[in-house]
Amino acid sequence: MNATGPHFDNSYARLPDAFHSRQAPTPVAQPELIALNRGLAEELGIDPDWLAGEDGMAMLSGNRLPAGAQPIAMGYAGHQFGHWVPRLGDGRALLIGEIVDREGTRRDVQLKGSGPTAFSRRGDGRSSIGPVVREYLASEFMHALGIPTTRALAAVATGERVMRQQIEPGGILCRVANSHVRVGTFEFFARSKRDDEVRLLADYVIERHYPDCRDATNPYASLLLQVIDRQARLIADWLRVGFIHGVMNTDNCSVVGETIDYGPFGFLDTFDQATVYSSIDQGGRYAYNQQPAIAHWNLARLCECLLPLLDPSREKSVEIANEVLQTFPARFESYFHPGLAAKIGLDPDREENARLALDLMDAMASGATDMTLVFRGLGELPGAGPDRDGPVRELFSDPDLFDSWAARWRQRVAAEGRGDATRQAAMQQVNPAFILRNHLAQQAVDAAIDRLDFEPMRRLHKVLSRPFDDQPEAADLARPPRLDERVLTTFCGT
Ligand code: AMP
Ligand code: MG
Repeated sequence: MNATGPHFDNSYARLPDAFHSRQAPTPVAQPELIALNRGLAEELGIDPDWLAGEDGMAMLSGNRLPAGAQPIAMGYAGHQFGHWVPRLGDGRALLIGEIVDREGTRRDVQLKGSGPTAFSRRGDGRSSIGPVVREYLASEFMHALGIPTTRALAAVATGERVMRQQIEPGGILCRVANSHVRVGTFEFFARSKRDDEVRLLADYVIERHYPDCRDATNPYASLLLQVIDRQARLIADWLRVGFIHGVMNTDNCSVVGETIDYGPFGFLDTFDQATVYSSIDQGGRYAYNQQPAIAHWNLARLCECLLPLLDPSREKSVEIANEVLQTFPARFESYFHPGLAAKIGLDPDREENARLALDLMDAMASGATDMTLVFRGLGELPGAGPDRDGPVRELFSDPDLFDSWAARWRQRVAAEGRGDATRQAAMQQVNPAFILRNHLAQQAVDAAIDRLDFEPMRRLHKVLSRPFDDQPEAADLARPPRLDERVLTTFCGT
């Protein structure tokens, strides 16, 4: 075992063969490191210099895995845009092993774009460099916002080409997750009535992620409740920063409540509840404001999977599942509303404050107003009076809308009596100055695809790693897109 390389301990690979398919990565021609997450490497107990060296690069490119790696493609199914698909699975990814990190948390290490697997169907098992750049930027930005997410350990250009809408350079992302078990993993077994495997999987998830469920009267009901709670918190986190996942299929819904599988995602520039980014989401199923309802729907699918475990009586199982499931909307609100109140600098525990924040969002929606700039700008305003409101009110196409809202807001600010400095500092901690705007992600992707130029990606990554800090030298990355820069759809074609 290499002293500075990864120390793998692979619990998922120890599950029976039905759970995965063993598969080595397919080597690539000429791997080149384009991004390395040194901090994350250290968390995992891997020497970053080892990763950047010959053996590390061999691992990150899939050319030669270190001792202890046991590459597997995980099996899963899923509902895609509401339609049942019995067999999906890792078609272009491999779980190469698990590492228990410095905090004692077991983390999955996955290569995405590492070649065909038993689940590839007609796909090539590869990824273009574009989606690798996008996922690296997005997942690390989400982490910087404090939102649960998979992480990016490294990105590699393969020196090979992939066929997409055009020929593009290939890439591999090394992704780290607390879990790659999805609602779709449960569906994979449950829908073919493989109750034993469902139970094994549930026990695995409890053991690894929710150990306190073991002591509950009904461990599986307790598992459901905890998964539901994590999803509720996650969706609330997304909505607060204007994130749209884009493909909330059950196979992209993690049982540990991490943001997973960044495809055609986007962040709102102008606030519009009905925004959809995915080019294939014609019906708006996964629009910004549909996400809580869709998460609820996905969790209902998970509940169905666990019915055989909840109680010997089917009737009783359904009753238990329903009881747990129906807590979702209230749980979601219990995370979303305090978060909203905090965004406008008011007491998170007062429901009227959340209502006030929702009114501000309505005002934004009526006039194509940049969400990030409004909240950030609001955090600079004094409580006393509107003299300095200019920069914020001018963001609204009808500034009167802001003026009347701000008058109500100031009454609440005064009533709560928190000093300006304290309130403003708290607001700047929850309202990012920078987000991963779609046009900026696109510019980074275009530079990577057209010229193998990773400088725009690196600059953006650096700024987004401190999203709550004012960074005057990066003012160009804070502004909304000009009309000619706007990116309205993103594609799955990875
Ligand atoms: P996604 O929509 O990205 O979550 O992927 C849905 C399914 O398609 C998963 O089973 C993927 O593994 C599979 N898939 C996507 N792209 C490819 C590819 N290039 N080669 C093989 N399988 C793929
Ligand atoms: Mg997926």
